Amino acid sequence: MSTERSGARVIVVGGGWSGLAAAWNLHRAGARPLLIDDRPTLGGRSATARLGARAITLGGKNIGRKYSRFRAFAAELGAGEAAYEHFGINSSRIENGRLHTTDSTNKAAALYGMLRGVPPRDLSRILRLAYYVRRDRANAFLSGPDVERYAARTGDPTLSAFFGTRLCERLLRPAVIRMNGAEPEESHLSTLGTNLGMLLDGFDQLTDGFDPLLHAFAARVETRAATRVTALLVTAGRVTGVRALAPDGTSSEEEADAVVLAVPAPHAAELLRHHHDELAQHLSHVRYFPVSVVVAEYDRPVFDTRVRALTFPADSPLSNAGAYGVTDRHLVRYTFSGRAARTLPGDDEELAALAERLLGAHLDLDAPKRLDTATARWQHGLCAYAPAHTRTLSAIDTRTAALPGLTLTGDYARGASIEACVRAAEERTDRLLRHLGRPG
Ligand SMILES: Cc1cc2nc3c(=O)[nH]c(=O)nc-3n(C[C@H](O)[C@H](O)[C@H](O)COP(=O)(O)OP(=O)(O)OC[C@H]3O[C@@H](n4cnc5c(N)ncnc54)[C@H](O)[C@@H]3O)c2cc1C
Repeated sequence: MSTERSGARVIVVGGGWSGLAAAWNLHRAGARPLLIDDRPTLGGRSATARLGARAITLGGKNIGRKYSRFRAFAAELGAGEAAYEHFGINSSRIENGRLHTTDSTNKAAALYGMLRGVPPRDLSRILRLAYYVRRDRANAFLSGPDVERYAARTGDPTLSAFFGTRLCERLLRPAVIRMNGAEPEESHLSTLGTNLGMLLDGFDQLTDGFDPLLHAFAARVETRAATRVTALLVTAGRVTGVRALAPDGTSSEEEADAVVLAVPAPHAAELLRHHHDELAQHLSHVRYFPVSVVVAEYDRPVFDTRVRALTFPADSPLSNAGAYGVTDRHLVRYTFSGRAARTLPGDDEELAALAERLLGAHLDLDAPKRLDTATARWQHGLCAYAPAHTRTLSAIDTRTAALPGLTLTGDYARGASIEACVRAAEERTDRLLRHLGRPG
């Protein structure tokens, strides 16, 4: 990557991790990015919310030990290794009335507990895939070479068609529900590497949340918040800028050498429909499932140190309830995702009461008193990829090439994690920089 200032003006649409990493990569290479986001604050699905006086993250917050690209990006913005605290993955499931606990601090025991009783055929299949991910980290992202080959050989079946019930219920459903909001019958083998990458990682969170990092970013990169991009400007078949709607209602045209759309696929499809209907169609094949999160503060710890989270069975709209942090056991984060969570009470208090009723069936919630609640609901919350995702991605790439000046990135490009968003954004803006550096 060139470090020479090219001076190219690039508009980046979207202020989540995809757009932030894209704009930062352009900035560090000497371009002049302008980041535009329609929300009042940066961060997209990782934006900061308030719970009383405290800043919390309702969306994506856990950072894997193997998130090398995110950690390097965060370090450049001042968040070095000392900025993280251990989060770990501790989760308990209810099986035949008994609580089974998995803790990432004892991986071998956790794995043994989960895989006990799984038929040998499934064991050999899942261990082979896990081996691919461990051997080459590229397999933890979409289009990972070995996972892709294996899926192509087996006809890329759904997880429920390829694996038996026991493995699906114990290991695969909790992983795809958490990361994609999808059920095993809605998830395909070719994208399983992204979930295994998560299962084989250990997790931290930033002690002070993402705000220090987002402020450091905004101090160095030109940013326009609360501004909605309503259209792309296309001149003689080339993307030359955007039309933007400012908070005061004024619409302006912003010209640029290139535009990066770093928004969820349905939002990109909306902006592209007038210019390239086929590209918009392919983008709209990428599925997103809704997710809602309630974080509630209680006057005393709800969880103990051994059981810090519970996963719920498929018929429950609540997929997970867990302590916000290892030492924040009085803050409970309730996540509603999966098929049973696609219709929920519209009222936030009713949603919190439903969460407490479901968790209260397993933990004593009579004594703790709820002090405060923060809620977020995302319609396009968790990216579950397209049913034939590799083909969809390559169709998107081919069609995008027909619109010079346009780069697309997002959670559908390399995977639905923060690390995958950063990776995709860097890869795609590196390509854009090479292109902008070319004379003519
Ligand atoms: C509840 C939840 C928990 C998660 N947990 C984790 C986790 O622990 N670890 C992890 O790695 N990942 C996690 N994820 C996933 C991770 O948060 C996402 O993959 C990532 O934040 C997506 O970033 P993005 O930039 O692609 O999209 P977004 O964050 O959605 O950013 C897109 C931005 O573009 C804006 N926008 C859209 N259209 C326009 C327009 N026309 N004009 C201007 N702006 C526009 C949107 O408002 C938004 O701010 C979680 C996600 C959710 C929802």
